[in-house]
Amino acid sequence: MHADDIIALYSRRGSSLYFGEPVTVAEHGLQAAYFARTAGASDALVLAALLHDVGHLIDLAPDDIAQWDSDAHHEIIGSRWLSSRFGPKVYEPVRLHVPAKRYLCATDANYARVLSAASVQTLKLQGGPMSREEIESFEHEPYHRDAVLLRRCDDQGKVSGLRTPGFENYRDLIGHLSGGPM
Ligand code: FE
Repeated sequence: MHADDIIALYSRRGSSLYFGEPVTVAEHGLQAAYFARTAGASDALVLAALLHDVGHLIDLAPDDIAQWDSDAHHEIIGSRWLSSRFGPKVYEPVRLHVPAKRYLCATDANYARVLSAASVQTLKLQGGPMSREEIESFEHEPYHRDAVLLRRCDDQGKVSGLRTPGFENYRDLIGHLSGGPM
């Protein structure tokens, strides 16, 4: 049942939103999932990559939005939404995909070069590269490695015109991973 709702959400809202990138939110999720699959990620992480930006698509009351800063913390909104549908192997990497960017900026000298212009711009709002203390606590997160892999797929998934398998290809995966603990 979840699969229909999720596919409908992405075709209704995800196919027209760009957020400063050359691909729509829907194309971006499909590309991130495709790169996660190519990298040998688990099914749960492929699904996390597919849905990692779902927080951009969910409607919130204006009162809720007023509580967020200007980056709107889409990773928190998205992971909360996912946590009522999937287990932590899906929602935790999503929650951590923005911290993972701040982590990689602080720990991988080559990383900043792969960031898109829009992503460099939001980095400041998100707090810039992590401090030493933040790095340490990030590395204590049980899903931090998955979050880093998701982040790298996220950064890759911004290729204008790249064709990938569509949402229908993930219908079984969504059904299989929804509800139960993982
Ligand atoms: Fe993304």
